[in-house]
Amino acid sequence: MSYDPSNIFARILLGELPCKKIAEDEHTLAFEDINPQAPVHILVIPKGSYVDWSDFTRNASDVEQSAFTKMIGHVANIAGITDSGYRVISNSGNDGHQEVPHLHMHVLGGAAIGPMVSKR
Ligand code: 5GP
Repeated sequence: MSYDPSNIFARILLGELPCKKIAEDEHTLAFEDINPQAPVHILVIPKGSYVDWSDFTRNASDVEQSAFTKMIGHVANIAGITDSGYRVISNSGNDGHQEVPHLHMHVLGGAAIGPMVSKR
């Protein structure tokens, strides 16, 4: 899948759409999900144009990948869920049910959030 520069997260990065920012560094932005699925639901996105996890791990620099990984732990700390626990999910492609075609990690916590995958 090629990168669509008009996707919602690209527009947030450009400042065309607002977000409730949690943290930011040179390579990464973290903000609240607009439709939270748990008391804490934060999205972590790279600032570079990567469609999904496969694109990112193939094409992003080590510095970008390191910043992205560290930001996930950082926002968990900011949200106060490091000790209580949380889940990190990245939906990728059709089978992963990815809706926004810009890589994002969901950081979910603040309460027990149930089984990893819903039963069919
Ligand atoms: P996906 O299904 O692609 O893994 O998740 C996309 C996520 O983006 C969903 O959890 C959805 O609530 C969130 N989302 C969609 N549009 C917006 C938006 O405009 N702002 C924010 N903050 N989150 C959004």
